Amino acid sequence: MRTTEALEDARRAMEICNACRYCEGFCAVFPAMEQRRDFTNGDLSYLANLCHNCRGCYHACQYAPPHEFGINLPRSFAELRAETYEEYAWPQPVAKLLRRNGLVVSVVTALALAGVLLAAMLLRSPGLLYGVHTGPGAFYAVIPHDAMAVLGSVTFLYALLALAMGFANFWRDAGARDADPLRRRPLAQALSDILTLRHLGGEHGCNDRDETFSTVRRRFHHALFYGFFACFASTGVATLYHFLFGWEAPYGVFSLPVLLGTAGGLGMVVGTLGMLWLKLAGDQAPTARTLLGTDVAFLVLLCMTALTGLLLLAVRATGAMGMALAVHLGFVLSLFLLMPYSKFVHGVYRSAALLRYALENGAGRDSGH
Ligand code: SF4
Ligand code: SF4
Repeated sequence: MRTTEALEDARRAMEICNACRYCEGFCAVFPAMEQRRDFTNGDLSYLANLCHNCRGCYHACQYAPPHEFGINLPRSFAELRAETYEEYAWPQPVAKLLRRNGLVVSVVTALALAGVLLAAMLLRSPGLLYGVHTGPGAFYAVIPHDAMAVLGSVTFLYALLALAMGFANFWRDAGARDADPLRRRPLAQALSDILTLRHLGGEHGCNDRDETFSTVRRRFHHALFYGFFACFASTGVATLYHFLFGWEAPYGVFSLPVLLGTAGGLGMVVGTLGMLWLKLAGDQAPTARTLLGTDVAFLVLLCMTALTGLLLLAVRATGAMGMALAVHLGFVLSLFLLMPYSKFVHGVYRSAALLRYALENGAGRDSGH
């Protein structure tokens, strides 16, 4: 991790916090900080990604602005996190997409939508595109299954590869290269922390709007997180149905893929709208204003992907199905392409930081090690 203004600001704050230690019980950042006397660039990258931006320390801090020390950990770490996203992105020449990310997300989404819509209009006659298609294989009358499968799997596998490379870059730089990330107990602890979002707001919640505690952010984040994975599971089950059993979409309203997709889509819509509301209506002092565009753009993209999926379900037995399918596919492709170059990467680096935390704490002392 190269030395930057944001990194030096985080180092200065950590040195003051390490002398003060008033917030030591607040979150995982402080116990991790207390294990260090000096803070390497990799340490700071790890601590910044361990912070979940609850803002508790900002409201508790006697050195927060207007004090001359001006300690504002949530903001300092948010700015540093954004730099780590770019630092670890793969391949590096494309990492610049993380700058002015709101614009990038808008342009890529517009291009993906235009591309799929144009292809559908040029390759399909109006009769097919605007016709009513029902029964197994109805979607493929508009967009051939092979085209959907190739486009979806190529973009998704690319996203997975880029995210895995980002994880490896973070892991090396955070000084964890000698740690075995597959040790059973730390891995189980980290997985539990990730799946339950244990550190997100703890028992009391976050200070999103002011010094009062609220667990609303945790609930919206849960809705988005599990909604996303339910949609992912829906696609996985549908793929198995198609290739293992030869059952073609669209599936019945009470089939597993549709139930998972509907629940997941609704969760994503509620989660993204809630998170957007918190972003825009929350206290801006402990946030990094420059990151607002990045956060908002990605939440809107997730929300539109879910909404167009639900819309497709609603109109699939009408003449609007063809256009709804093309629009939904455009959003899905854009989401896959942008996963490694948008706010989505926060899930990867935060998970890596939680695993690092489990390894260097009690969960790391499992038998045989
Ligand atoms: S955030 Fe402020 S009060 Fe908390 S440990 Fe740091 S300097 Fe002390
Ligand atoms: S904002 Fe919350 S999570 Fe981040 S360092 Fe402060 S107390 Fe910890």
